[in-house]
Amino acid sequence: MDYQQILENIYQTIQPYSKQGKQADYIPELAKVYPDQFGMSLHTIYGETASIEQADTRFSIQSISKVFTLAMCLSIKGDDLWSRVGKEPSGTAFNSLVQLEVEKGVPRNPFINAGALVMADILLSNLKNPEADYLNFVRAVSANETIDYNVNVANSERENGFLNAAIVNLLKYHGTIENNIEDVLHFYFLMCSIEMSCRELSLAFLAFANHRRKFDYAGITLTSSQVKRINAIMQTCGFYDEAGEFAYLVGLPGKSGVGGGIVAIHPLQYSVAVWSPRLNSKGNSVMGIKALELLTTETKASIF
Ligand code: GLU
Repeated sequence: MDYQQILENIYQTIQPYSKQGKQADYIPELAKVYPDQFGMSLHTIYGETASIEQADTRFSIQSISKVFTLAMCLSIKGDDLWSRVGKEPSGTAFNSLVQLEVEKGVPRNPFINAGALVMADILLSNLKNPEADYLNFVRAVSANETIDYNVNVANSERENGFLNAAIVNLLKYHGTIENNIEDVLHFYFLMCSIEMSCRELSLAFLAFANHRRKFDYAGITLTSSQVKRINAIMQTCGFYDEAGEFAYLVGLPGKSGVGGGIVAIHPLQYSVAVWSPRLNSKGNSVMGIKALELLTTETKASIF
């Protein structure tokens, strides 16, 4: 398969969508990002690679970090994790409060903000140096020591993170947060602020694309079935209230972030990352979704 040619064709085909959508501006630092950018990178488990346009420009991975967070929590807590957070799609926005109120503080899944805040709390309780340990894990799984937090983005989000503060307060009220809520918010925003490029993300997610390879990075180990289950959660919960639409259009497990990035995995085939800051009304990259839809159409291969 000539992935390089396929990616170049995709880029030409999606040009009519290049001005659709709007970048996230509820985090002021993200509003400064130039919106008309696009990058895409694919790595197969056999070592083939293809990258186009701004595949090497780093961006704020935001909620894509929730996959790394889940991997760490699952490694540390095993199946006990599921008493703190569910694994059902939410069908609501990533920052919704409504469901949490009804479900008495046990978030639907680890990929909505409430679920990720609970996971941040778990890591704070279980790691010696949470900020350093988390970064070490992401660096190890990416085989890249230069990956880092962007403290400006994290601070900018904290200054305006009223909804996430409301969520963590509601969780605390229901007794599902062990640590100080300011510490949980600080750590959560820091994890979201990690910056990576499409090439780096695509490489890192090979660890999730190939469940037959040993998963052991900076002391974080997962069994092959735990890796498969992370894929299952990406499939059902990776795109907020657009998970069904993404499954319908693209047919791959994946995770998006409001920085405009999306990673997707074809298990035992490849991992792909795409980035373009303009988002649709559900918070997912317009060109990113289009590009991935075309990828599975052109290659005639998805998990279905
Ligand atoms: N830090 C963002 C928030 O909590 C992440 C949202 C996202 O990427 O979906 O609002």
